[in-house]
Amino acid sequence: MLSYRHAYHAGNHADVLKHLTLLAVLQQLRNKDKPFVAIDSHSGNGFYNLSSEPARKTGEAAQGFLRLWQQRDKLKNIDLVSDYLALVAEINPTDTGNSIGNYPGSPAIMQAQLRADDLAILMELHSTEIDHVRDNFKRDSRISVHHRDGFEGAVALTPPTPRRGVLLMDPAYEIKADYQQAIKTVLAVHRRWPTGIIALWYPLLGQSRDLSGLIKQKLGVVADSINIELSVATQSDEFGMHGSGMYIINPPWQLAERVNAALKKIQPLLQV
Ligand code: SAM
Repeated sequence: MLSYRHAYHAGNHADVLKHLTLLAVLQQLRNKDKPFVAIDSHSGNGFYNLSSEPARKTGEAAQGFLRLWQQRDKLKNIDLVSDYLALVAEINPTDTGNSIGNYPGSPAIMQAQLRADDLAILMELHSTEIDHVRDNFKRDSRISVHHRDGFEGAVALTPPTPRRGVLLMDPAYEIKADYQQAIKTVLAVHRRWPTGIIALWYPLLGQSRDLSGLIKQKLGVVADSINIELSVATQSDEFGMHGSGMYIINPPWQLAERVNAALKKIQPLLQV
């Protein structure tokens, strides 16, 4: 039984890291005049209301993306951050205050970057979340939605056509086995699709629960790979998720430099 609902966590500091990195990857794929495919193995709904009850209940968005949103005038000249804020502003044309109705999840960020010949493939296993994803993207013929296990689907659907592209893997890590499963799947996809960009998100937790080292150790065997992390508090077992990371195979040129420069500017705003 899947109990995780991203609506409670949308727009938190982990989403800021993940969505900035994803946006930078997609922008670089768009730089060439050749079609690409964006695959999302754990898609979630696609859109979230940061003024809704779930978002207000945890307050995670208020400590995450909304801090950037409230400072958007000061951030509008920062590379990448300005593009992220512009993308959110575009889907919130009437929200001029401190919160927003529409926050783009990873499928919506992909959709915003697709050109006429680019494609996206979304996978979601949850039996009610899948209805939202289908509903949100049914009018876009470039996007296909699969109700299936994203670990299995990522392997089955790669290498994709076209060959250029990115796989985002964003498991909820509800169970410890997700770590091994994510590592195994990333390595299997890399074997099948050696040129594909693979971006795996992982949490940074208190010492007794942190398994980020396992991910970095097991995926570190892949030659062309990097990791980018954002931490907003000091590590402690009491605090929970103090940060997160993206492990990226075949990163586009200077991805880490660009994303890290953006993170350096916004990290003080996100600090707890
Ligand atoms: N990627 C989304 C974003 O950035 O907007 C958020 C995804 S959320 C962290 C993880 C999602 O994976 C949840 O919607 C959950 O229902 C779904 N999920 C959990 N296990 C899955 C599996 N094995 N295959 C596909 N989806 C799964």
